Amino acid sequence: MNEINQLVGEHPCFHKAAAHWFGRLHLPVAPDCNIKCHYCTRLYDCANENRPGVTSRLMSPKEALQHVRRSLAKEPRIRVIGIAGPGDPLANRATLVTLRLVHAHFPDLIKCLSTNGLLLPENLPALKSAGVRAVTVTVNAVSPAVGARIYGHVFYRGRVYRGAAGAELLWRAQYAGIRLAAAMGLAVKVNSVLIPGVNDGHLLQVARSVRAAGAHLMNVIPLIPRGAFAALQPPPPGQVARIRQKLAPVIAQMTHCRRCRADAAGMLLEGGTDAAF
Ligand code: SF4
Ligand code: SF4
Repeated sequence: MNEINQLVGEHPCFHKAAAHWFGRLHLPVAPDCNIKCHYCTRLYDCANENRPGVTSRLMSPKEALQHVRRSLAKEPRIRVIGIAGPGDPLANRATLVTLRLVHAHFPDLIKCLSTNGLLLPENLPALKSAGVRAVTVTVNAVSPAVGARIYGHVFYRGRVYRGAAGAELLWRAQYAGIRLAAAMGLAVKVNSVLIPGVNDGHLLQVARSVRAAGAHLMNVIPLIPRGAFAALQPPPPGQVARIRQKLAPVIAQMTHCRRCRADAAGMLLEGGTDAAF
């Protein structure tokens, strides 16, 4: 637990005070995805983690390593190197290649990953040996009936799963991944997109389930209506804060997320182009 506390204290997303002292750098090396969220158009960065409306320029693993070098020269307070898209990092071979490369050259920096979780359990040993110490898993539903309204399909081991079957498969993988990651000593954050009329009444159950699996922190992010959900309304003013307040006794809530781009760089709370909410 001490190791987790130390890690969390140096990660600007896991600890608000740390966001004043340490920066993060995202490496946009992962364009592909293996699921279809109804709020995603795939025209922009993964909406689970990143700011919609802006597409990151893709980098190869070697370019990403150069980018780390250049960014550290400009901003030595960068402490976390993360991969958060623009698709799902674990659906892309380049993710592990990049993490290994960066870890070999910068072993002291914290490596971090944001994923939909479908391929998390089977990748955790390799991620850990590539220096990953923190993961974010986006969990929008733990009930197959609710999940069936959020996910169009889930592509797993050569098969396409739709409806409740896809949602159930996804949550099982997320649960196993969160449990294993926590047991392996990684810091685990869960992102949940708040989708009014779809999962707003379900997030308490999500919070309880991910806490029981071992997650340390939850980040409720408001829907930006796009894709198949373009006709939905975003959460009304105050709803995100009210839900966070309700969930806080179950699991600690992140309140300073800036919904960064997949190529975000620098300090979270100092200017920049990322959108706060
Ligand atoms: Fe889009 Fe991210 Fe969902 Fe994949 S996981 S469909 S990239 S929002
Ligand atoms: Fe941290 Fe939120 Fe930015 Fe992800 S999107 S790096 S959780 S501030």
